[in-house]
Amino acid sequence: MPKKKIAIAGAGFSGAVITHQLSQAGYEIDVFDTRGHVAGNCHTERDADTGVMVHVYGPHIFHTSNEEVWRYVNEFDEFMPYINRVKANVGGKIYSMPINLHTINQFFGKALSPKEAAAFVTTLADESIADPQTFEEQALRFVGRDLYEAFFRGYTRKQWGMDPTELPASILKRLPLRFNYDDNYYNSRHQGIPKNGYTHIVEKMLDMPGVKLHLSTPFTREMVPSYDHVFYSGPIDKWFDFADGRLAYRTLDFEAHTDNGDFQGNAVINYCDESVPWTRISEHKHFAPWESHEKTVIFRERSRVCGEDDIPYYPIRLVAEMKQLASYVDLARQEQSVTFVGRLGTYRYLDMHVTIAEALDVSRRFLADPDGMPAF
Ligand code: UDP
Repeated sequence: MPKKKIAIAGAGFSGAVITHQLSQAGYEIDVFDTRGHVAGNCHTERDADTGVMVHVYGPHIFHTSNEEVWRYVNEFDEFMPYINRVKANVGGKIYSMPINLHTINQFFGKALSPKEAAAFVTTLADESIADPQTFEEQALRFVGRDLYEAFFRGYTRKQWGMDPTELPASILKRLPLRFNYDDNYYNSRHQGIPKNGYTHIVEKMLDMPGVKLHLSTPFTREMVPSYDHVFYSGPIDKWFDFADGRLAYRTLDFEAHTDNGDFQGNAVINYCDESVPWTRISEHKHFAPWESHEKTVIFRERSRVCGEDDIPYYPIRLVAEMKQLASYVDLARQEQSVTFVGRLGTYRYLDMHVTIAEALDVSRRFLADPDGMPAF
């Protein structure tokens, strides 16, 4: 019996992992991407002028507590030890981020112990907020007004183009609050950056027998009948020709600048004041501390509403968008041979490790029952 023919729309992590898993099982696979490169927004590229490995669509630091995902990605490249340590510029002073004992002692000019700091922050917190719903309520409940206004309010207004009173508490819950000097941005068991970049990993995932890669080639509905099954990781609203309107995203602009030596001494510095137009500055050579470069590349990053021709980054996911998404999911469920995957296919903010875990799971489900694969 001939093997099923598969189309993968989108050569980011979702598409690449599914391609790799299914090609190992002998499937013939055509992979399409609208862009001229693979790896989606994780794309990395060595800058010709400086030799620095640049995270073209902004910083990507790999972290996971999922053992299977960690083992899996390590099959494709060596992950170099890396801990994301972010600094924050507030009012022209530099603080440690995420908020930890150092930040609290720096900000309030104190030398508190962990216990003293926890007790002190309790006096700042608004305990009348029993069940925080909004970003602002979450911040006021756990760190109080001074730290909220200094570190979160301005940055969040710039990042989301909305006031924290309009955003859900879940966004702030992504950040830890610590009463010790641990300034690791993440709590994950494993953290690292691939020695040869993310694009190298995706290229290796796709370099399999029976896999054909079609770059700069959009996958369209008319192509569906040529395949037994399609895995679509493009924007779900686009698949349905925006029948229920465009799902809102934030996009990012990067203003690149090349300099000599060391520009800021750290990979990422956040600019929390609203008076500064950018949200953060990334200095790419610091993402690869095992390399040595004379020159340096920095990105000043700004966030804005995503227009029709812009690259979508952050799904907004407020009440109106979730309603819109529900009607797209209803449409998706009517598809017979298309499965929607990944950040754009399911309109969720997904870290790389979550994308990979989900793609491994989708692959397993498909291989177990190729005719019973649901759309969503
Ligand atoms: N945030 C902030 N100040 C900072 C860092 C983060 O206000 O210095 C807020 C901001 O709203 C951001 C959220 O916390 O979207 C979650 O932070 P994370 O680092 O996960 O940001 P993202 O991945 O969204 O860029």
